[in-house]
Amino acid sequence: MSITTNLQKIQNEISTNAKIVAISKFHSTDDISEAYKAGHRIFGESRAQEIVPKYEKLPKDIEWHFVGHLQSNKIKDIAPFISLIHSVDSFRLLRNINRHAKNNERVIPCLLQLHIAKEDSKYGFTYDECREMLTKGEWREFTNIQIAGVMGMASFTDDEDKVKSEFIGLKKFYDEIKNDFFAEEPSFKEISMGMSQDYPIAIQEGSTLVRIGSKIFGNRDY
Ligand SMILES: *Cc1c(COP(=O)(O)O)cnc(C)c1O
Repeated sequence: MSITTNLQKIQNEISTNAKIVAISKFHSTDDISEAYKAGHRIFGESRAQEIVPKYEKLPKDIEWHFVGHLQSNKIKDIAPFISLIHSVDSFRLLRNINRHAKNNERVIPCLLQLHIAKEDSKYGFTYDECREMLTKGEWREFTNIQIAGVMGMASFTDDEDKVKSEFIGLKKFYDEIKNDFFAEEPSFKEISMGMSQDYPIAIQEGSTLVRIGSKIFGNRDY
């Protein structure tokens, strides 16, 4: 199956308002160009050293999203062009992104990453940590970032009930903080959840952005 066919198939399957972020990490610019020629414009990467050369080489109307763990010393490399950072997992990172966004005279949309899986290996705020940060309110002074929603990665498991309950939890948390902190902000609207393995469940539970890699581009060669 070709990249174009895979994309069309997924698009037909989800047929909702959710958007597909095509996760192109470890895939070539030729692969990305194929999806681009099929009309796709939103791509996501998880490493700064990979996204920058791809951004430089490929058409400038691509919307690049960052989905991986972001180190503070890499922010300056992506700040000039990144459209959405899905993976903000600390107050310090938010503050640093704000600083670099300001240097670039930009406002950078960010999602707060929540630790929703019952696994140690995943990054993200716990629900309590995130509430605490929002309640403190210092983030309101960061005028060069825009908190646009939440992101989460479910447990890597075949247990669909478990995955489903993790997505339900994230949706519930999104509704809670939208009501408590972002009620006046229409730009707070994204729930980034769902990957190749679990996007149908994520869509059912209210995802607005699915991050799909291998189902589009095939397996990654690390
Ligand atoms: C790699 C990655 C994806 C895509 O994974 P697939 O299983 O290939 O769809 C989604 N989200 C994040 C954060 C990733 O790092």
